[in-house]
Amino acid sequence: MNCGTVALIGRPNVGKSTLMNHLLKQKISITSRKPQTTRHRILGINTSERGQIVYMDTPGMHNSEKKALNRYLNRTADTTLLGVDVVVWLLDGLVWQEYDEIIFKKLEQAGLPVILAVNKVDKIKEKEAMLAFFADAQKRFPFEQLVPISALKNTNLDVLENLLYDLLPEQELLYPEDQVTDRSERFLAAEIIREKLTRRLGAELPYELTVEIERYEEHPGLSKIYAIIWVERMTQKNIVIGKEGEMLKNIGTEARLDIERLIDQKVYLQLWVKVKSGWSDNERALLSLGFND
Ligand code: GDP
Ligand code: MG
Repeated sequence: MNCGTVALIGRPNVGKSTLMNHLLKQKISITSRKPQTTRHRILGINTSERGQIVYMDTPGMHNSEKKALNRYLNRTADTTLLGVDVVVWLLDGLVWQEYDEIIFKKLEQAGLPVILAVNKVDKIKEKEAMLAFFADAQKRFPFEQLVPISALKNTNLDVLENLLYDLLPEQELLYPEDQVTDRSERFLAAEIIREKLTRRLGAELPYELTVEIERYEEHPGLSKIYAIIWVERMTQKNIVIGKEGEMLKNIGTEARLDIERLIDQKVYLQLWVKVKSGWSDNERALLSLGFND
């Protein structure tokens, strides 16, 4: 059996969380068109006849360390490289960015085998450009393998998975074969609510809100979930609630359906919106809201 951990890294929005979900054929990590959707490190575990791959989805690496939340995201991304066996570096199409140099340096320091996965190839028209790009990539960094993929359309994901198994050490399973993530249902429920908020709200708002599960009760045939949506200002509270509560109602319905699908059970979901100013710039407030891995 080949077993080990694989870190999925890259700039925000390249498709790391989408890739993990599609490799697992299950939605474990939340995704959206907005950068910084993923705030927590999360494991996705895939067991097959070849062995077990433990994928680590990470918040994207950033330049700015201005706020406490950004510092937290950066730390999480850095510590990811400790104790993993293989790194998959995702790019969004055939472009290098100034930003990628920072990741090169981090990878060099880590000294791990790195696979370059060029994602979103469904959007690339000129396939010949791929070869030139790969030749150039080999000059920039000693990649173990280069593979074009589409996480969204499941293109080449089986190829990527096989390359990963080839690079993993022979050892016993790290997790029980039926386990798919290291996170609790409570955590996943909070993340699903945050996904719906992120997808529905304007560009600025999502970074300034967080979701806390106040109570999670399991009854026969029904899970009751009571959640608080924390925002920074009263004006944001009004946006989240929406006209006559319409926005909050829609978010609640969408989240409930996703949670029901995930835990395969009926769910009663109650959402409150509360104001707590300055939370994203205050480490203590972050801890109290569960940002403590
Ligand atoms: P992350 O920040 O790296 O985790 O990125 P996400 O997984 O949240 O994805 C960011 C956006 O890219 C989402 O809107 C995805 O639907 C989209 N996306 C991810 N993979 C692909 C792909 O293969 N093709 C296309 N066209 N879009 C993709
Ligand atoms: Mg993500």
